[in-house]
Amino acid sequence: MKFVYDFPEGNKDLRGLLGGKGANLAEMTNLGLPVPPGFTITTEACKVYLDTGKEPAALRDEVSAHLDALESRMGKKLGQPDDPLLVSVRSGAKFSMPGMMDTVLNVGLSDASVAGLAAQAGDERFAWDSYRRLIQMFGATVLGVGAQLFEEALEEAKERKQAATDVDLEAGDLKKLVTRFKQIVSQEAGRDFPQDPREQMDLAICSVFESWNTERAKLYRRQERIPGDLGTAVNICSMVFGNLGPDSGTGVAFTRDPASGHQGVYGDYLQNAQGEDVVAGIRNTVALADLETIDKKSYDQLLQIMETLETHYRDLCDIEFTIERGRLWMLQTRVGKRTAGAAFRIATQLVDQGLIDEAEALQRVNGAQLAQLMFPRFDDDAKRDLLGRGIAASPGAAVGKAVFDSYTAVKWSRSGEQVILIRRETNPDDLNGMIAANGILTSRGGKTSHAAVVARGMGKTCVCGAEELEVDTKSRRMTAPGGVVVEEGDVVSIDGSTGKVYLGEVPVVPSPVVEYFEGRMHAGADDADELVEAVHRIMAYADRRRRLRVRANADNAEDALRARRFGAQGIGLCRTEHMFLGERRTLVEKLVLADTDDERVNALEALMPLQKKDFIELFEAMDGLPVTVRLLDPPLHEFLPDITELSVRVALAEARKDHNENDLRLLQAVHKLHEQNPMLGLRGVRLGLVIPGLFAMQVRAIAEAAAERKNAKGDPRAEIMIPLVGTVQELEIVRDEAELVIAEVEKARGVRLKLALGTMIELPRAALTAGQIAEAAEFFSFGTNDLTQTVWGFSRDDVEASFFTAYLEKGIFGVSPFETIDRDGVGALVKSAVEAGRATRPGLKMGVCGEHGGDPESVHFFHEIGLDYVSCSPFRIPVARLEAGRAAALSSGSDSR
Ligand code: ADP
Ligand code: MG
Ligand code: MG
Repeated sequence: MKFVYDFPEGNKDLRGLLGGKGANLAEMTNLGLPVPPGFTITTEACKVYLDTGKEPAALRDEVSAHLDALESRMGKKLGQPDDPLLVSVRSGAKFSMPGMMDTVLNVGLSDASVAGLAAQAGDERFAWDSYRRLIQMFGATVLGVGAQLFEEALEEAKERKQAATDVDLEAGDLKKLVTRFKQIVSQEAGRDFPQDPREQMDLAICSVFESWNTERAKLYRRQERIPGDLGTAVNICSMVFGNLGPDSGTGVAFTRDPASGHQGVYGDYLQNAQGEDVVAGIRNTVALADLETIDKKSYDQLLQIMETLETHYRDLCDIEFTIERGRLWMLQTRVGKRTAGAAFRIATQLVDQGLIDEAEALQRVNGAQLAQLMFPRFDDDAKRDLLGRGIAASPGAAVGKAVFDSYTAVKWSRSGEQVILIRRETNPDDLNGMIAANGILTSRGGKTSHAAVVARGMGKTCVCGAEELEVDTKSRRMTAPGGVVVEEGDVVSIDGSTGKVYLGEVPVVPSPVVEYFEGRMHAGADDADELVEAVHRIMAYADRRRRLRVRANADNAEDALRARRFGAQGIGLCRTEHMFLGERRTLVEKLVLADTDDERVNALEALMPLQKKDFIELFEAMDGLPVTVRLLDPPLHEFLPDITELSVRVALAEARKDHNENDLRLLQAVHKLHEQNPMLGLRGVRLGLVIPGLFAMQVRAIAEAAAERKNAKGDPRAEIMIPLVGTVQELEIVRDEAELVIAEVEKARGVRLKLALGTMIELPRAALTAGQIAEAAEFFSFGTNDLTQTVWGFSRDDVEASFFTAYLEKGIFGVSPFETIDRDGVGALVKSAVEAGRATRPGLKMGVCGEHGGDPESVHFFHEIGLDYVSCSPFRIPVARLEAGRAAALSSGSDSR
């Protein structure tokens, strides 16, 4: 196996082998751009090193051969005393991990060659500055010396000299500093700074390999879901020097604005500087546009190169460059990160420029970005008072009074206050408080902390790990870096999309993208902004391509109408349980307490017209589109009074000798219906089979409502769905009964209703016997939430709060299986049920209802296995439409339609 590639041997598609940096250095070299020559050691070599603790046997010789070639090309040897070749040893993995791994500059410089470098450059200061930088970087990264020791020594040197910045230090000062740095190394590292150039290089290479596995790199990978076994490549790149005086410098640039997507000149430049200086904030940088006056020739050349790169990569690129005495060098490029809004705008701009086609534009954005654009946000123009910042853990803009414990959060929110729950970190005991709060702020923990995971699951705004904010829950206050104190009850505003925390109330404005989906803002209108135009166009690309239809989970006309505005093509799940709540609860109590058939029939007949009215409104809102109505699913006791409250009430009444017969009977019923595991108890089809007339009443209400709509010249398309079926026999019994009821209604009303009868597939047994169940079902709807619970043996309410954080931290899964479908387990079961169902009944209509239907990754999976539709909450519909379009564009490849 070949472990080393000269830059011209690679290309941009070899990111896995050469790392992103190496692959793109190769690509730029081959484009004829000015890249300092060098070579790349592959990620394969790194993997061997990490597995065995040693470099692969062949590596040393291979590196020697490539170094020889580099030396003859440059006409000087690594560290050659009179004219040293210097190199940088740079990490670079397949996926960018900014600042996570090590890079060492000026490798090859030593006591012997520093004078040679000074003579060649005609600049002694420069040589000593380069040498002190080498010892500093090498000491900290390769030899593990505390970086702050070097920084302190540098500060002392500046103070002694009364120098404002590092450039005010002269050759003599830097020479002394080198001596000091070498002392620090000897004291701290237990060895002297290595004077042999090749030893420096080899040690730096191993250190880059090892930097793959530093704690912060591991943490970063877990958060960004980068696999842990990829390893990093190492780039050996001959040095160019931006620290050779005012005609030299270093900078970073973007080919367009990563915030807005606009084309233009974006970036920063710093004269007389090397490497990270420009981003480290040691001196003030100038805007890239100012380079035009500093060095017009290099500036013009840079702009031209930026255009070449954009056209070549067909995307926004970011760039690192250095100017050495008026000569421009390219040190890095990659497709650059951007905000969600910029992603949409850039994609459509590139289509307009003819650089990409519509299908590719769809791959340049994603549903998570669209979801981000749909959250309300703080008014950009409003005044605000920044307290500090943490990790943007769950997007949104939330305002409320600061509370420091969950009890207060619940109490205050019950009395109508908006609150922000502030904790050091949260744990399962905080769940109630988190539910009650508008937003959650913690000072500890990262993107997978309890607060972050639970908040995202609830769709609640969260900023976590705001370490600069000192949270004191005992005395109920938080202290910001400037000394500002937030007491309980003070208003704060938190931005879950940026991680920023503000004092006081920052006004919130609705997202223009939501205004657009709601139909309150039109693309093409005068006040529509560019972002809305871009979203409008991308959605059209997606809708043109997608094969999956998108339906909504909606239980009432209001949600159904919104869903329609958002592009829903029907309702995939109408839960009927809300129709049993509120004032209707007493009717349910009567049903449960019924002793005789008459009492039961009376109770059901009282419920029927109410249900019917709900359905009429719903069918009207969704006229012409399918509406899947699920018969009652939850256990009956959910509609009865709380067992403790009721017990107390009865006990108190008894004490007062005030006998309430009804309460007593109710209490008995509550006891009887009480279950250890309601999720696996008397619910779904099981209820329908043991409570005579319950399902028949619901079916009658649906049929009557449909008949009424028909008679009103509407186009109702109801589908009746039986939940929690485990075996075809259950379905057959309910079905037979339902068909009788429907036939009766049809006869009485004189209409043909064509109501489809189908089932949810949400138990493993149903999935395993899907072939049989399809005999009796006209459609399947996969209830992937319950299926996930039953396949994993997880009770969602219990596991998410108690141990999911630990599972995520241990990497047992990268994302909760309730958020993204578990392809290998639950997904495989769904896939086999799809196949079995269609084998029995070709053309069987199949969809998925449940939150997975609005999750980007899951949508792709459902597309792949050939479902007909996904159904999700109204707010997620645009995301599902977009992802369905992206999935279709991916599987059909790029085209130029
Ligand atoms: P990172 O992965 O953190 O971006 P890099 O490997 O890009 O690290 O290097 C860190 C800094 O050093 C960057 O500013 C880069 O431009 C600069 N640099 C790297 N190699 C060279 C070189 N051969 N000559 C001059 N500057 C270099
Ligand atoms: Mg870099
Ligand atoms: Mg279910």
